[in-house]
Amino acid sequence: MLKIVNPANHDVLAELPEDGSYAVRKKYERARAAQPAWAATPIRKRLEHIKSFRDEIVNMHDTLARTLTQEVGKPIKQSRNELKGLLTRIDFFLGEAAAALREEKVFADATQHLEERISHEPLGVIANISAWNYPYFVGSNVFVPALIAGNAVLYKPSEFATLTGKHIADMLHRAGIPDDVFVSVIGGAVTGSALLRQPVDGVFFTGSYATGAKIGAVAGRKMIKVQLELGGKDPVYVCDDVDVKTAAAGLADGAFYNTGQSCCSVERIYVHEKIHDEFVAEFVAEVNGFKLGDPLDEQTYIGAITRRPQLEVLRKQVTDARKKGAMVLTGGGSVERKGNWFEPTVLTQVNHRMAVMREESFGPIIGIQRVVDDVEAVHLMNDTEYGLTAGVYTANEKRARRVLAQVKSGSVYWNCCDRVSPRLPWSGVGHSGIGLTLSTYGIQTFTRPKAWHLRSA
Ligand code: NAD
Repeated sequence: MLKIVNPANHDVLAELPEDGSYAVRKKYERARAAQPAWAATPIRKRLEHIKSFRDEIVNMHDTLARTLTQEVGKPIKQSRNELKGLLTRIDFFLGEAAAALREEKVFADATQHLEERISHEPLGVIANISAWNYPYFVGSNVFVPALIAGNAVLYKPSEFATLTGKHIADMLHRAGIPDDVFVSVIGGAVTGSALLRQPVDGVFFTGSYATGAKIGAVAGRKMIKVQLELGGKDPVYVCDDVDVKTAAAGLADGAFYNTGQSCCSVERIYVHEKIHDEFVAEFVAEVNGFKLGDPLDEQTYIGAITRRPQLEVLRKQVTDARKKGAMVLTGGGSVERKGNWFEPTVLTQVNHRMAVMREESFGPIIGIQRVVDDVEAVHLMNDTEYGLTAGVYTANEKRARRVLAQVKSGSVYWNCCDRVSPRLPWSGVGHSGIGLTLSTYGIQTFTRPKAWHLRSA
């Protein structure tokens, strides 16, 4: 049985049966049988179902936000923000999908009686293995365009966001998506591996590098399409020409929103030496203003740590940094209350020998390092296995573009951070993953382009 525990107080919210190998096999067979009819349904109809799914989200809003907060410990305001953002993403897909999936004529020559066309065929049955930190975002980036494109989806929510996963399945089914076209698979790692043993046509994964590497190896042997949206160690460089207070406020939010449990949370800050001390003072003042507490409280900004083992990762990073000479300016340890809690923590005098500047923290910790110039900043920003997002704060656009052009990263930000847009591709470099979601590319990615060579005589 899968025990769903509230990370903020350790209350048991539910106990659910996990899908074993046999149940997963049966679910796969149902999806395989149902997919051709779904693919043959006119796209207009498929879009109507997704529109009804959107209506369900609006109607269920308060229940969904509460469940998410109780299940993952996310502050309630931030749960509502996630649902608001979800509607925007669905609107993007509803608006763009038909054009992105339309068959294209790319060449025609009457003298040769020749036409060349590209059609976008659904992959078939795909596995969507998801993370817990933004379950609505990372799930919908996959299953919404995948369904619109005519695929059947075997959706495994994270074991830490299963109740949200069940809400998603119920809403999609009420919206008219056939039960066998969107099928949820319940469980953790063992269930996930059972899902990958099925002859699926693609696997779309969001989660850690460690799990992503295993999934990539399985998909490689099967020769199926694989997308891996993995972790990050996202850097930001603050130049000497910024409004320090504004930059500090923006970056404190970028580092601590969602209690630092975002793939694109700011995880490292490099500050030009001319403004370093002033920036640090403003940053710490900002962080000290964050209210930690009951995630259901409207005023709460710092919620619980969703996975208990992460507390140990955070403690170790702080101990390691301290041992190597870092200073803890605020926070630094667990909080004495029932549940999984860690204080928002700011470290200075850090360097790249410390785990906190090299390994994903995925919690409310930030290291701030002094740099002498743009060259040193770029060098340090690139000194990582990851490459999800990177940013620069400066008043000078040319300087920003020069720095960002040299950074190896899927997304780059000028005077902003921790931001995702449905209109732009979301992808990573290195250990941050393979493939992409969002944008029109993130619709076509759920299809196989078929090349048509047509000669009429
Ligand atoms: P995780 O890797 O522990 O688990 C992710 C999913 O994989 C879960 O559903 C889990 O049950 C499943 N799983 C675990 N082992 C498996 C196996 N052997 N075979 C098949 N499935 C298996 O990650 P998590 O803790 O859920 O998520 C946190 C990580 O996700 C962080 O590293 C974060 O940066 C990353 N993330 C990335 C993005 C992105 O868009 N790049 C978005 C959100 C989260």
